[in-house]
Amino acid sequence: MNNLEQTLSIIKPDAVERNLNEKIKDIFTKNNLKIKDSKKIQITKDEAAEFYKVHQSKPFYNDLCTYLSSGPIEVIILEGENAVIANRNLMGATDPKKAEDNTIRKLYGISIDKNSVHGSDSNENAKKEIKFFFKN
Ligand code: UDP
Ligand code: MG
Repeated sequence: MNNLEQTLSIIKPDAVERNLNEKIKDIFTKNNLKIKDSKKIQITKDEAAEFYKVHQSKPFYNDLCTYLSSGPIEVIILEGENAVIANRNLMGATDPKKAEDNTIRKLYGISIDKNSVHGSDSNENAKKEIKFFFKN
């Protein structure tokens, strides 16, 4: 292992609602990302607003926070070689229509907002996001 990392994945409400949790977690584990911890929770809109505050100036911010707090989610700590980018590659592009074949968003995403999964976009953000959900 040259660059063992952890990253945060969230299985979003649209995917939990369709019982896709196990299918999505299988994609991670089959691609050498270990599930170090996970829990099913539902967050408040205020918590979603805090989690997504980097997007606070974006036109989709309010709807995004409403959506992420609209139903149960599963938050997952993934660990593996270059886990941040490995997870982003498995997820595919933000817009499922533009996502590469066999990515999670291509397989399961409904739309640019209901795109089934979140993944940290950098090592620094991964650390912050893991702390946000797994405080210990
Ligand atoms: N999003 C949206 N409309 C957009 C762009 C993004 O609703 O035009 C939502 C979508 O759920 C996305 C999230 O906001 O996953 C965060 O956006 P980001 O650009 O960080 O995409 P990601 O990192 O999730 O691919
Ligand atoms: Mg992002």
